[in-house]
Amino acid sequence: MIIVMQAEADQDQIQDVEAQLSRMGFTPHRIKGVLRTVIGAVGDPKIVYPTSLERLPGVDKVLPVTAPYQLVSRQVKPDDSLIRVGDTVIGGEALVVMAGPCAVESWDHLITVARQVKLSGASILRGGAFKPRTSPYSFQGLEHEGLKLLARAREETGLTIVTEVLTPQEVELVARYADIIQIGARNMQNFSLLREVGRCGKPVLLKRGLASTVEEWLMAAEYILAEKNYQVILCERGIRTFENSTRSTLDISSVPQIKQLSHLPVIVDPSHAGGSWRLVLPLSLAAIASGADGLMVEVHHKPAEAFCDGGQSLTPENFASMMSAAARVAAAVGRSLPVVC
Ligand code: PEP
Ligand code: MN
Repeated sequence: MIIVMQAEADQDQIQDVEAQLSRMGFTPHRIKGVLRTVIGAVGDPKIVYPTSLERLPGVDKVLPVTAPYQLVSRQVKPDDSLIRVGDTVIGGEALVVMAGPCAVESWDHLITVARQVKLSGASILRGGAFKPRTSPYSFQGLEHEGLKLLARAREETGLTIVTEVLTPQEVELVARYADIIQIGARNMQNFSLLREVGRCGKPVLLKRGLASTVEEWLMAAEYILAEKNYQVILCERGIRTFENSTRSTLDISSVPQIKQLSHLPVIVDPSHAGGSWRLVLPLSLAAIASGADGLMVEVHHKPAEAFCDGGQSLTPENFASMMSAAARVAAAVGRSLPVVC
């Protein structure tokens, strides 16, 4: 349920309502809007929401939340959430591009790609140090060494870092190096991992599960917000359908759908969706036209030699052309995309 405070409600009145909610067995989440504060009260859905709360000083109204998710819902927070990472704001007018290799392979390779994506306007460097691979015999990532290389690339380029964590036990380690913690598609419903990243204090990029509905995806985000980490970025990366000519099916409609249902920013990963470098440009343009807040794109300077996902990685030159085309579509839909070269 949501408790909407009056615009003139003072701090004491807000705290009194929160204390009353805690006594009733709810966890209060204070959400400061532009005009007024609302308090999201989460707890056992079987507790019938008490209209008597409307009698407390400073309360305007008490509303039920009709969706199964609460804190991620636009009903609870009508304004878009902005996630700040260094100088970058995700969810605002400017689109944000995260780019880099699928996996961190070596220092020379990482710094080469990092410098090139930065030149083309990316502000966040992606790269997996812990890789979730379908086969246990495939390259699993450089692990801790990979995290150190990412941190060094941040120092050299000024790019912030997004990288994946696979287990709750490794969250503390990954959070020490990463600016954004990535939860991959295969772990979207790993609830203990979601709770742990909810407690780590870093922004979280939550990819959509391979076979998850939009509602399940938002419920997964709710786990993170329920731990009082409100810095969640959603990432549509395609879902598994009967269609097998592409690696996954990019569910472009999830972007405007999420925008209606939730206040969280949503970006698109055209690389894992299409599974082919040839599809990355058109899918990126479609993503921007549909209202996405940014892109996550795989780039490799020698795709034929990549340890993983070479077939879907753009060369730095193709990435630069994609960024120019993306900037034109962004302008057409009232957004901006910095393209440096
Ligand atoms: C990735 O971004 O490296 C990745 C493994 O993607 P996904 O979880 O979407 O498959
Ligand atoms: Mn990949």
